[in-house]
Amino acid sequence: MGVERVFAEGDRVGVLLTEPLGRSLSGTLDYRAPEGGCGTGDFVEVPLGPRRMVGVVWGPGDGSFDMARLRPVTRVLDARPMRAELRAFLTRAADYTLTPLPAMLRLATRAPGLGESAGMRRVYRLSGPAPNKLTDARLRVLEALRGFGGAAVTLGEICDAAGCTSSVVKGLVKAGVIAEEDAPRDLPYPDLNPAAAKVQLMGEQIAAAAALTAAVAQGNYGTTLLKGVTGSGKTEVYLEAVAECLRHGRQALVLLPEIALTAEFLTRVEARFGARPAEWHSGVTQTERRRLWRMLGEGSAQMVVGARSALFLPFQHLGLIVVDEEHDTSYKQEEGVLYNARDMAVLRAAICGAQVVLASATPSLESWVNAEQGKYTRLDLGARFGTAELPEMRAIDMRDERLPANRWISEPLAEAVKARQALGEQSLLFLNRRGYAPVTICRACGHQVGCDDCDARMVEHRFLKRLVCHQCGASKPVPDTCPSCGVAGRMAPVGPGVERLAEEVAERFPEARVAILSSDLFGSARALKEQIESIAAGGAEIIIGTQIVAKGHNFPLLTLVGVIDADLGLQGSDLRAAERTFQLMRQVAGRAGRAGNRRGLALLQSHQPDHPVIRAILGGDEEAFWKAEADERRAAGVPPYGRMAGIILSGPDVAQVFDFGAELARLDGPLRRIGAQLYGPAPAPIARVRGRHRVRLLIKADKLAPIQAAVSEWLSQVKPPNAVRIAVDIDPQSF
Ligand code: ADP
Ligand code: ZN
Repeated sequence: MGVERVFAEGDRVGVLLTEPLGRSLSGTLDYRAPEGGCGTGDFVEVPLGPRRMVGVVWGPGDGSFDMARLRPVTRVLDARPMRAELRAFLTRAADYTLTPLPAMLRLATRAPGLGESAGMRRVYRLSGPAPNKLTDARLRVLEALRGFGGAAVTLGEICDAAGCTSSVVKGLVKAGVIAEEDAPRDLPYPDLNPAAAKVQLMGEQIAAAAALTAAVAQGNYGTTLLKGVTGSGKTEVYLEAVAECLRHGRQALVLLPEIALTAEFLTRVEARFGARPAEWHSGVTQTERRRLWRMLGEGSAQMVVGARSALFLPFQHLGLIVVDEEHDTSYKQEEGVLYNARDMAVLRAAICGAQVVLASATPSLESWVNAEQGKYTRLDLGARFGTAELPEMRAIDMRDERLPANRWISEPLAEAVKARQALGEQSLLFLNRRGYAPVTICRACGHQVGCDDCDARMVEHRFLKRLVCHQCGASKPVPDTCPSCGVAGRMAPVGPGVERLAEEVAERFPEARVAILSSDLFGSARALKEQIESIAAGGAEIIIGTQIVAKGHNFPLLTLVGVIDADLGLQGSDLRAAERTFQLMRQVAGRAGRAGNRRGLALLQSHQPDHPVIRAILGGDEEAFWKAEADERRAAGVPPYGRMAGIILSGPDVAQVFDFGAELARLDGPLRRIGAQLYGPAPAPIARVRGRHRVRLLIKADKLAPIQAAVSEWLSQVKPPNAVRIAVDIDPQSF
């Protein structure tokens, strides 16, 4: 861990800027310490050319300039210095992911108003009854304020949320509907009480919680895989570990894979600890982010619930990180800095001496193997809490079902749905495809409409009345004439998406109340949350959902899950296909029958019900399945037994990108020296995105080989053409 140093005025210091300036400026820049001196970790303002930039004093400087030419630091900002522990984490994370350090630092300094002094600010809240007649703009303002749940917010936040000018808000202040007041910028968070509402744990839960609390009480690093079937009480158990962490006066972080899950979770934490913890994700207002960022520095926020980016917050004494649904692929950030939050959680905990709990009903193979090898402690919860049983799982052999064209719901599934309707229970029809139809084809010539800029077919979205590219987001109207052969009136949708499935449901169950849960159908996180709450309260009989329904939601009335196409994820050559399909199917099935009064049923429509993965999902020996998967990976020398890195080269000119890839492949000396194998250049899994052609090189090395050092030496041998970009993906998701 870095040593804290104090620099006297005029000393040479190395400053890392919080805005990356490209790969050429990837290290620290040297300055002179300002009047009054400064220390490592201080946030400072420095001159760069004509600009002023914010940076962090990283160390004594590397001597890159003559002392005589050094410019002084402009000022030390009024912010808590970044602790050595966080700096060490960023450095190690940058080394591991081969990310330039400034880009990594940026992840830890994205809070607004960095370096502003605290003080007071003007805030607004609802104060009086709304008059009957209101202009549209005024209505939107009131709506926005209600959306903030009674919290006092700034003028900027209201105007952003309501899409209006400040004069509308001021007008409402004059009318006495909104109160205007000064408030301290950053209120401390309410204290959480670990003993507020203790839950009486049962059976296996007791031993699991005891093991976790003992580990937390030790106050050192360790990782535990908490594997428990859905509804077994994993959350209750790890909240005990959080309670222990709070008792020791250390901070706890809980990561969730999906923002839509936070609301329900916060309510649960509030019930358990008597107050709400802090939140950190893209849906949190700038004011709140700023407050949390500052308050963490003061050590005031005891618990944070957040998305993966919360790992980079300035905790003062972090004692526990929980990664809930640790297998979830959304923990991997696939743009900008490529990192896996699960692995980074372990790294940060190892550096600051904290415990990690990885919770899942279907752990990643990585974690399963780490537990198997004794690197992680493993705790199991084998049964659902109380009287709830795991759902019964059955396959429907679709080869026996002669479904008419454009029908996807088999007779047995339809019967099961009807039976649930009669009982006043809910059914979920799961199809992991957004939109109306995945393909739009010309019946005259067979042409399939693709994206102009990507190597991807356009997906029809009836709700939006457009074809949308799921790679780049581009959209266009559904063409009437074929863009290829020019014949009119023959364009047709092929295959189902959730919107099309909804049409079939409407035909076959005309009286049923139906809800579609698909991320793209909701304008905001709030709308999605409301839909989820309404479903949980029984506001729908049939739910049609994409993978967002698989993630931990609790629908007490749901007793039937029908998977429309269980084979969907098994296509393709990805070595992780079996693992992913197993996880997804088990997670979806786990939504059924959580309440305990009725047993759930999961029906998987499949054309290959004898496929080993489908058989494992249907209740074969789970440990045997993981073991077989592990053996296969070991034999192939791929993760978690080998190390991999993906290098994606991209550029507008396909030949140029390929040529550069071939050149890199010829210079493979540094890779060969560590015994690594190089595959490619080959078209990347998605060969073109946003007009840029993508070529992939895959490196496979021994588990212990220094792959980062070899890759960076290899890439440094030759400069890419200007138009070609390089992205390095250590531990890629697909291989
Ligand atoms: P998981 O996280 O494994 O899916 P949860 O912790 O959400 O499981 O538990 C499932 C349900 O059972 C929740 O409603 C939870 O409150 C309840 N539950 C679990 N354990 C207990 C317990 N010991 N006492 C009371 N309720 C419990
Ligand atoms: Zn596109």
